[in-house]
Amino acid sequence: MNPGGDVGPSAGTGLAGTWRVPGRVNLIGEHTDYNNGFALPFAIDRHSDVRVVLRSDRQVRCWSAQESRQVVAALDDLRPGGVVGWARYPLGVLWALETAGVRLPGFDLWVDSTVPVGAGLSSSAALLAAVAAGVDEACGLALGRDTLVEVCHQAETVFVGVPVGRLDQVVVFHARAGHGLLIDFESLSTEQVPLGIGPLVVVDTAVRHHNDDGAYAIRRAECEAAAAALGVPTLRHATAVAVNDRLDGVLLRRARHVTTENQRVLETARRLGAGEDIADLLYASHRSLRDDFEVSCPQLDAVVGVACALGARGARMVGGGFGGCALVVGLEADALRAAVTRAFAAHDWSPPTVFATRASAGASRVA
Ligand code: ADP
Ligand code: MG
Repeated sequence: MNPGGDVGPSAGTGLAGTWRVPGRVNLIGEHTDYNNGFALPFAIDRHSDVRVVLRSDRQVRCWSAQESRQVVAALDDLRPGGVVGWARYPLGVLWALETAGVRLPGFDLWVDSTVPVGAGLSSSAALLAAVAAGVDEACGLALGRDTLVEVCHQAETVFVGVPVGRLDQVVVFHARAGHGLLIDFESLSTEQVPLGIGPLVVVDTAVRHHNDDGAYAIRRAECEAAAAALGVPTLRHATAVAVNDRLDGVLLRRARHVTTENQRVLETARRLGAGEDIADLLYASHRSLRDDFEVSCPQLDAVVGVACALGARGARMVGGGFGGCALVVGLEADALRAAVTRAFAAHDWSPPTVFATRASAGASRVA
């Protein structure tokens, strides 16, 4: 990143515009991004809107329709770990831009989102990217999407302090309606893949889990340990034979998930291109996350079991795991909702939320 230069507020400081960025669902390729592997996510039809208003000072005021607390901060006071609460996300973007050499004016930032927060549909990247896209255009920075991906990733990993990979940031900037995005996390190259598959339904299990509570970091550390044991820079470069021959116990299971998941992603992209069915790959991904990576939970397993019994053309947990959402392909939302709600009630679990979605476009300006 080398943006450089000062940015002054436009003449007659006032409304600069509103930027909209979707959440995302990962069709396949879970816990592969930080192993430099492959994933195939798509953007959903729920989004964060951020209205950006330039200020003539270096003060930032943040509001969110989903939060009661307005946050006021001075750009000169921003430090990683120095902000608590939701405003870490928008303020982190401004910090990352300034750290990369851009001198910003102040802002009023108004946030509103239809992405459920903390459900694994990446409300965080939607918020970060909407701020980044808005500030970039409002200030005439023209940094380009790849630089904005890095800005958002720096904001989330360094300023907010959550050790996420780049999947969310890449897809919310690059997504195209009706397509999945095949991402190679070694080169960060992307390829649009037409999603000619039946209805896409999201089941939010209502089980909540936060990326910063340790389990995610432990999985990352285990993957690094497995790569080190195999003498490769990342598990991207591990072969199935080496994993099976030279690892055992937990590291064998973690590495086996990553290597087989990478193969499933590439096979999914190939089959989608050829108009072939991908159901077995989605179910295999779920089993691998459940048994080898051990990041599923009873509610996610129940959704996949119910979907399979109803004849879904694939179902799997999506996101980091331990709760959040599952994706079901090829069933209508109403039929699935009735069956999943019954199954959850039988266990006395909180009721799930079930909604149809479709592959949507990435970041854009809407006003
Ligand atoms: P996910 O990205 O799966 O929704 P994360 O834990 O990564 O879950 O990010 C959720 C966090 O992002 C929230 O706790 C909040 O700090 C911030 N956030 C996301 N959307 C909003 C919003 N509309 N208003 C305020 N904060 C938000
Ligand atoms: Mg997130």
